[in-house]
Amino acid sequence: MSDQAALRVEGLSRHFGSLKAVEDVSFEVRQGSRHAVIGPNGAGKSTLFALVAGALRATSGRVWLRGDDVTSLSEHARARRGLVRTFQHSSLFLTATARENVMLAVQRRHGVQAQPWRAVARRRVLVAEADAVLEQLFLHHRAGQTAGALSHGERRQLEVAVALATSPSVLLLDEPAAGMSHADTQAFQEIVLGLPSDVTVLLVEHDLDLVFGVADQVTVMQLGQHLLTGPPEEVRASDAVQKAYLGA
Ligand code: ADP
Ligand code: MG
Repeated sequence: MSDQAALRVEGLSRHFGSLKAVEDVSFEVRQGSRHAVIGPNGAGKSTLFALVAGALRATSGRVWLRGDDVTSLSEHARARRGLVRTFQHSSLFLTATARENVMLAVQRRHGVQAQPWRAVARRRVLVAEADAVLEQLFLHHRAGQTAGALSHGERRQLEVAVALATSPSVLLLDEPAAGMSHADTQAFQEIVLGLPSDVTVLLVEHDLDLVFGVADQVTVMQLGQHLLTGPPEEVRASDAVQKAYLGA
């Protein structure tokens, strides 16, 4: 594995009965990269995402997080090691404020026992850290609003804020633009571009405008197989990719 790989999948497969949803897929995600996985419907993107996150067991193959084989680890154990996903279905506490949602994630990272400070001092630190993350996501002005009062796009931003508050080394984004308006998607593009450069981002996404607006590496899947991994220019120019999308 190259020194720069934050994540690597190696010969990864997942079969459902006779259906090979993901078949012998290998590629690596460089440290600090914004790496997108694309492919037509049924290509195996969601299955691959679940295998990387640890939500689904592989039939065979391995997942490496930096130098560590995490294949046998649960989703939760992978998250503790810095491989963190946002959820396509909202995992927010809708009656809590945006700030409180982020504070809970910051608190999880610190661990309840880790800092036996006075409650007032601890709260002040949590608020400051949560506000810093909200600012990064351009949500600071909504900090005091309940998550339930936010727009759809803002909630997606908040989900990223909650994930980011746990200090991930690799952030997994599952179709972030799904159900977003064009304006929200454009705003989301700015957010992805503005994420800290030491956080590696792997996103599975349908919206090719978003993909080509943010990605520095693109992996193309087709019928469960890895077709190509390369920079966006190379992927756009590829005959094989054009054919995969046209179904030819
Ligand atoms: P994509 O996200 O690229 O559209 P998926 O990973 O959702 O592709 O699906 C890949 C293939 O695996 C599809 O043919 C799909 O029907 C099948 N598949 C996905 N999940 C399951 C499952 N839990 N049981 C059976 N087949 C599945
Ligand atoms: Mg899918």
